[in-house]
Amino acid sequence: MLSEFDLIAKYFTKPVTNASLGIGDDCALLRPTPGTQMAISSDMLVSGTHFFPDTDPRQLGHKSLAVNLSDLAAMGAEPVAFTLALALPEPDEAWLKPFSEGLFSLANLCQCELIGGDTTRGPLNICITIFGQIPLGQALRRDKAQHGDDIWISGTIGDARLALAHCRHETVLSENEFNMVLQRLQTPIPRIALGIALRKIANAALDLSDGLLGDLSHILDASRVGATLNIDALPISSVLEKQPEAFRLQCALGGGDDYELCFTAPIAKRGRVLEASEKTGVPVTRIGFIEKEPGLRLCNTQGELQHFSHRSFDHFLTSKK
Ligand code: ADP
Ligand code: MG
Repeated sequence: MLSEFDLIAKYFTKPVTNASLGIGDDCALLRPTPGTQMAISSDMLVSGTHFFPDTDPRQLGHKSLAVNLSDLAAMGAEPVAFTLALALPEPDEAWLKPFSEGLFSLANLCQCELIGGDTTRGPLNICITIFGQIPLGQALRRDKAQHGDDIWISGTIGDARLALAHCRHETVLSENEFNMVLQRLQTPIPRIALGIALRKIANAALDLSDGLLGDLSHILDASRVGATLNIDALPISSVLEKQPEAFRLQCALGGGDDYELCFTAPIAKRGRVLEASEKTGVPVTRIGFIEKEPGLRLCNTQGELQHFSHRSFDHFLTSKK
């Protein structure tokens, strides 16, 4: 059976260049570029809570890192390195090999290096801490939205929730449709390039992990502002488009796991937002605007107020598989 150290050497040790020292010593060593700030975030993925226990390990490797990279994207940070704390029921190479391949294929794509971690026996649990860097003062924070800003989101939203609904037999999709939305749930692509391109353009940003309404409320609360959204403007896929209206809205407004960016920017910078979108090949859509009056209001294109009761995902209030 593979020992702890064999396992680390075989599946997780790779040469590093961003870091001064990677795996093998008591600590890794990073050398931040002068004039930058470090952005640091941790995300834990727990079997049975964040993913089905039989989830494909390659996709799990991808997703574990993707959710962390998405946090860097939301701050406008450039990825540098990450650590991996892994609890495994047993050192199963048939699981470890594809998991590490999925992890490193996204890590290489985003030039983010594994520099350390911890390995222990226990119920499957994957915790990644990620380190990124941003020029001093250019981080995209949640607390800087301004009255009058446009609200934008990248890509499309709601597909990951739709895939989950199919898995839970809440709706039925064709095989083709299911495969399209399942990709969004299992292998989200973090919007790193867009986040970086939005530095000095966006006033506030976050990534959508728990559902648009709940996540946007974090920006509104932190910035002490309110907002109105146009529910007819929400960017959704052709697969979600075909669903009945109420369910469609539930997926788009209250779903989670989208890993798109939601950001606010001054009206005067609309042109620059569109340039950033074009430069990075990531579509963006204007879905509303920031107002002085607190609270979040929903309207349609005719300007009529719409009612939608939602609860964003909360680990202690809702259960999710
Ligand atoms: P320590 O006893 O100092 O905690 P460990 O024996 O746990 O160190 O780990 C030895 C080295 O392997 C350290 O550099 C640690 O960062 C690294 N490491 C352990 N587990 C992992 C992992 N799952 N992924 C990457 N690096 C790891
Ligand atoms: Mg240790």
